[in-house]
Amino acid sequence: MSPDYEAVIGLEVHARMHTRTKAFCPCAVRFGDPPNSLVCPTCLGLPGALPSLNREAVAMGVRVGLALGCTVRRRSRFARKNYFYPDLPKGYQISQYDEPLCEGGWLDVPQPDGSTRRIGIERAHLEEDAGKNLHGVGASREVSLVDLNRAGVPLLEIVGRPELRSASEAAEYLRQLRSVLMAVGANDGNLESGSFRCDANVSVRPVGERRLGTRTEIKNINSFRFVQRAIEWEVAEQVAALRAGASVAQVTKTWDDDSGRCHVLRRKEGSDDYRYFPEPDLPPLVLSEAFVDELAASLPPLPAARRARYVRELGLTEGDARPLPVEALAALFARLDDGTLSGTIAREVYAKMVESGRSADEIIEAEGLRVVTDEGAIDAACRAVIDASPKQLAAYRAGKRALLGYFKGEVMRATGGRADPRALDAALSRLLGG
Ligand code: ADP
Ligand code: MG
Ligand code: ZN
Repeated sequence: MSPDYEAVIGLEVHARMHTRTKAFCPCAVRFGDPPNSLVCPTCLGLPGALPSLNREAVAMGVRVGLALGCTVRRRSRFARKNYFYPDLPKGYQISQYDEPLCEGGWLDVPQPDGSTRRIGIERAHLEEDAGKNLHGVGASREVSLVDLNRAGVPLLEIVGRPELRSASEAAEYLRQLRSVLMAVGANDGNLESGSFRCDANVSVRPVGERRLGTRTEIKNINSFRFVQRAIEWEVAEQVAALRAGASVAQVTKTWDDDSGRCHVLRRKEGSDDYRYFPEPDLPPLVLSEAFVDELAASLPPLPAARRARYVRELGLTEGDARPLPVEALAALFARLDDGTLSGTIAREVYAKMVESGRSADEIIEAEGLRVVTDEGAIDAACRAVIDASPKQLAAYRAGKRALLGYFKGEVMRATGGRADPRALDAALSRLLGG
């Protein structure tokens, strides 16, 4: 990045809500079924068919909004976004426009130096996915066909503020957002199947300038690596244009990884082009306080909070807590929480995870690394230590109670730190007597 220009990036993420059925009809959400087998009059847009809103999709959208610190609107509204495309049989997409489900939130994005930077979220709204056009099919490869299994699948569009400063920060924002969505159970995190995809808005401006430059929009990227490469390329392109005295055209582009460059698709459409109007077939969405409160109470600890816990309890640095995916660390902590591991053993398992890439459970199974709670085994280990320490035993019984620490330490050493501390205390006080 040249020193006299800075990049400004804002991301719009389309995240599929991980529901069993579609947003406005009872058709199943599944991928890989025969084309046009998961459809009904509503998602086909047949005349007279009416939408009815999926409660599960709303609940997931609310959970995401709460996890991102958004204000969840008690009353939101659906709108029709009108455009023509063969994968959109109704001729409009049901979306939310002026009264979105969630507004104003943030995401703390990890930085290379271990700190985090807070990026604003403008809004998050519910909408439906379109179908899929399949081009170049048939023997002649000249035919295009439409599969509408995906039409009507619920999406949450999460609109980030234009506050990201580099391609790598944008990629990190997406990783972090994906882990929040997965942590609240709203998204399966599968980028390849298109469950999580983004549009990247990119502009540049002279350093010190407060106003935003003209942006281009790169559509539908579904890989962290592609996002990073596309933004890097686009920033360089815009800086070169401005340097040459040209201007940046407000256009919509697509990233082509094979040629390693963006291609212009069309001029950027404005919201006037869509003739938004309130969806007459759906009433306003009104949420009760109890509904939102219940969802808020059921939120799990979120990735950033969990990461802080790893740092605290395993003595890791912020940097250490990021080699491993947050899901892998969460699995390790689940074993700490259910008593399978002690802190000492967890540190050992962690080191092996980093070294081998194996999961916590695989390592625990394969190496028998778990807390020993079995009373017989702990008794035996205590007896062995006591038998080998007649002098300490005599001193202890004569009143030198501080020697309890000595016995504990010896048993812990003998068991490789695996004795359950509470079971150990009980066994020692029973066997030492006095
Ligand atoms: P749309 O792209 O649908 O027209 P918006 O105007 O709301 O909608 O912009 C959407 C996204 O574009 C947001 O994520 C926002 O952060 C980003 N954005 C807006 N202006 C700029 C800019 N000048 N540079 C980079 N990103 C921008
Ligand atoms: Mg956009
Ligand atoms: Zn349907």
